[in-house]
Amino acid sequence: MSSIPTGQFVTRSAEETFDLAYRIGEAINEPAVFLLQGDLGAGKTVFAKGLGAGLDIDPAEVNSPTFTIVNRRDGRMRLYHLDLYRIAGGANEVYDLGLDEILAEPGTVVVIEWPERLGTFAIPNAYQVMIDDLGGDERSVGIQREI
Ligand code: ADP
Ligand code: MG
Repeated sequence: MSSIPTGQFVTRSAEETFDLAYRIGEAINEPAVFLLQGDLGAGKTVFAKGLGAGLDIDPAEVNSPTFTIVNRRDGRMRLYHLDLYRIAGGANEVYDLGLDEILAEPGTVVVIEWPERLGTFAIPNAYQVMIDDLGGDERSVGIQREI
């Protein structure tokens, strides 16, 4: 099992959030799904970049792109980064994105921004990452594994 750090953290800069996520990326050695919750500008994409870097993926290649919803990048493991912000949401639309196939692909790490849009599309055993803006550059970052 991967020894992924879980718990409640406070970061005081984007770099600290990046580093926290980097340590998680580094610790991953088996398939895992991360659901990143938090408002616009909370730091979800910063977190995704750090996690990707921990998988040996160039952070510049991990973005929230304007026209793509799913990005695939290969590092030490394959990373799928999804930003569901622009979809209306619901299980049908998520199926159309091929998320069930992505989740069935062996050896992959999946990071999803705006998991609220998943609707009834359930993902068991995912890590829930909750980022809250505490004002200024402070963020609380809660990481826990769903049962
Ligand atoms: P999201 O993907 O949640 O919409 P982004 O990761 O794209 O948010 O942007 C977060 C913004 O907040 C960036 O401009 C980043 O530099 C800034 N920021 C300031 N402090 C922090 C922090 N502690 N953690 C993460 N981002 C921070
Ligand atoms: Mg984002």
